[in-house]
Amino acid sequence: MTEQAEQKAFSIRGAMDAVGNIVDLHVARGVFVAEAPEGSELIEADGLVVLPGFVDIHTHLREPGFEASETIASGTAAAVAGGYTAVCAMANTDPVTDSVERVESMRKLARTSAHNEVFPIGSLTIDLAGQQLSPIAEMAACGVRLFSDDGRCLMDPVLMRRALELSAAHNVVIAQHSQDHRLAPADACADERSIAGELGLPGWPWAAESSIIARDVQLAELTGGHLHVCHLSTAESVEVVRWAKARGVDVTAEATPHHMLLTSDLLRSGSTDYKVNPPLRSAEDVEAVRAGLVDRTIDLVGTDHAPHEAQFKDLPFPQAKPGMTALEQALSSLMESLLLPGRIDWTDVTRIMSTAPAHRGQVPGQGLGLGVGSPANLVLVHPARRRVVNRDDSASAGRNNPYHGMDLPDPIELTMGAGRILYRR
Ligand SMILES: [Zn+2]
Repeated sequence: MTEQAEQKAFSIRGAMDAVGNIVDLHVARGVFVAEAPEGSELIEADGLVVLPGFVDIHTHLREPGFEASETIASGTAAAVAGGYTAVCAMANTDPVTDSVERVESMRKLARTSAHNEVFPIGSLTIDLAGQQLSPIAEMAACGVRLFSDDGRCLMDPVLMRRALELSAAHNVVIAQHSQDHRLAPADACADERSIAGELGLPGWPWAAESSIIARDVQLAELTGGHLHVCHLSTAESVEVVRWAKARGVDVTAEATPHHMLLTSDLLRSGSTDYKVNPPLRSAEDVEAVRAGLVDRTIDLVGTDHAPHEAQFKDLPFPQAKPGMTALEQALSSLMESLLLPGRIDWTDVTRIMSTAPAHRGQVPGQGLGLGVGSPANLVLVHPARRRVVNRDDSASAGRNNPYHGMDLPDPIELTMGAGRILYRR
């Protein structure tokens, strides 16, 4: 926290909290306090909803190594514009975050350029090669709480078993990108069940995801390890996680903003903005993901924010890189999919966007609510405003925005982290 932030005080008046009470919130020295200090800045929040700041445990910030796609500065600018007060940065940078030194170097980069808090995720294997485990114990000892080779699946069941054993021993979480690389190899780019055949694209079969999840939840049961399933995208995957939770396995699951809102029909446009991994699925799969969020089989939203520079998207569909920007439209998507249709309420939004990710990622100072004494992390939300999304309005360096041209909720008014205004509309 900067000296300036320690001095600045705020009073936020008239906002509605998640359960519908009109509240006044006071902020001083970076935390919520009971009384407005003299000279505090007044923020009028009539008609707005106040929620705890959001936490993303699945962000690709691209720096170091791919700064033309995104930097920590531009990625976290997108994050605060989406209501996020903290993000966990995936390890598939160049160099890969696969050692204590790389973790420290990421933290140093983030201290100088980030708009919100950034927590490095450690890779599961050295250089994401799937051959040799990263020094998980050492990285855990220096505060890393999530480990993932995301972008790639850790296929080797013996290494996965060992990683889950280490997760139990060191109280960390293994986040798996579930994709059997034999069934769905690198060129698989369209949902096999709904669209690949029609478009003549290499198919990505549903079983390549849920078969890995089924294996991993059993390895988690065998080892007592802590498993997190990234970007679950099919009805069968939701069923497997539901089954595993009923058995008492320590597994959490995430849905992305795009897999709960967008369907594979969009691929008919030919636009590579709709290319993502795992691919967009059918309306039936989207409904299964929504139902999973409603019944808490799926715990949280992870954005899988994956910006790319234009040259990697301006290619024929099979050659274009998979990935979508997601931080700025995450709440828009959750509202459009589930909140506005009345299937979840603001307390569910709080759990899905803040409490559950902060808890699973053991993200310090986040997801703690709006009570006196807690760090002043909050987002003010307009519950009814809409806007046609324009990719060029984005704070992200990525223009691969799949919501471009869609009429969606436009909720974020203000984001405050540790008592500092990080974003204001
Ligand atoms: Zn992934």
